[in-house]
Parts: sequence; structure tokens; C-alpha cells
Amino acid sequence: MVSVHPSLVLVNGFDSHVHLYQMIDAIARKGDQDSYPRSGMKHVGGVVNFCDPQHFDRALRFIPLLFHFHIAVRVHPKCVSMLTDDGWDKLECLFACPRVTAVSELGIDYFCVSQAEWPRQWAFVRRVLGVGCRNMVLVLHLRPAQGDPYGHHLHREFRDLLRQYCGRHQHIHIHNFTGDAQELDAWMPFRMCTSGCRA
Ligand SMILES: [Zn+2]
Repeated sequence: MVSVHPSLVLVNGFDSHVHLYQMIDAIARKGDQDSYPRSGMKHVGGVVNFCDPQHFDRALRFIPLLFHFHIAVRVHPKCVSMLTDDGWDKLECLFACPRVTAVSELGIDYFCVSQAEWPRQWAFVRRVLGVGCRNMVLVLHLRPAQGDPYGHHLHREFRDLLRQYCGRHQHIHIHNFTGDAQELDAWMPFRMCTSGCRA
């Protein structure tokens, strides 16, 4: 029997949460084009997130080139304060693109964003849900405050909001899920999956 070095074993990899510009910046910083995808992985697709208003112009040009990927757009909770009226208009252009199949990074970040900005994050979430999400997948970013590892109150409040706007048949991907088993059970009535990426 011939043994094969693990680094040569190819597996098909689907990356459910790609931040293209952060990845390009990281590769440029490290000068290592082999850092992604990891050795041994054949990249067969994924979901690219455009959620920084600074990149909306470039996103409009890039999307037609990303034919192996699904596309998710919106605004990361950390960037909500940067969104201008012009940025919202560009966001609507992106969102109207038929290639866009998910709402990216919709949610609340109590960890990285100062408390003064929290109401603005909730207002933005309501604005997005109020526009309607065309039965797209919602990619949720729910990050509790420091010292609140499971974020029960945050998760419960967000579920209550989703019930008002979407109903339990909404497809949801909670990325960087930090809740416990009790929280996982509470999300189960939704069509939901989780992943552990943080960005
Ligand atoms: Zn992310």
C-alpha cells in the first residue's frame, strides 16, 4: 500500500463565508499566494460577502467574474455608521443583481461596536428586513458583548424580530455562532445552519 503525504490529499472545499478583500489584503501582507485555499483542498465554490460600503463600487465590477461563487451583500454591523445615502443606493443596485442570493452579515455586534451605536445597528436591521429579502438566505452576525459569551438576550431579541418580518421558514446561516445547546435548540424552528468563522 502506497502512503500519501496529507498535504497532497485533495478534498473538495466549499467556503461558506469568504471576505474577498480581507483575503486579498492578507495575501498581499504575507506575500503568500498559497495560503488560500489551504494545501490539500480543491476549492469548488463558496459564498463571497460584500458587506463594507467602501467596496460596493468594486463589488459591482467583480460579481460577474465570480462565477463559481454565490454572492451575499449588505452592511456589516461594524460598518453601519459608515453607510451614506449614496452607499444605500449602491447597496440597492447590488441587491437587485440576480447573482445575489443572500443577505450578508445582517445583525448586531455588541462586542466591537460602542454602545452608543447599538440603536443604529437595530434600526439598520429593521430597514433591511422592511425592504424584504426576496426569500434569500440571511447570513446572520450576532456577537454578544464582552462577558456575555452565549448572548441569550441578543439571540432571543433577534429571533423575535425575525418572526415579525420573515417567519420561521426563512433560510438562515448564523456564522460565528457563539450560543450554547439551549440557544441552538431555540433556533431550530427556523431553517438554520451555523458555522464557526469570525470576521
Ligand atoms: Zn464575516
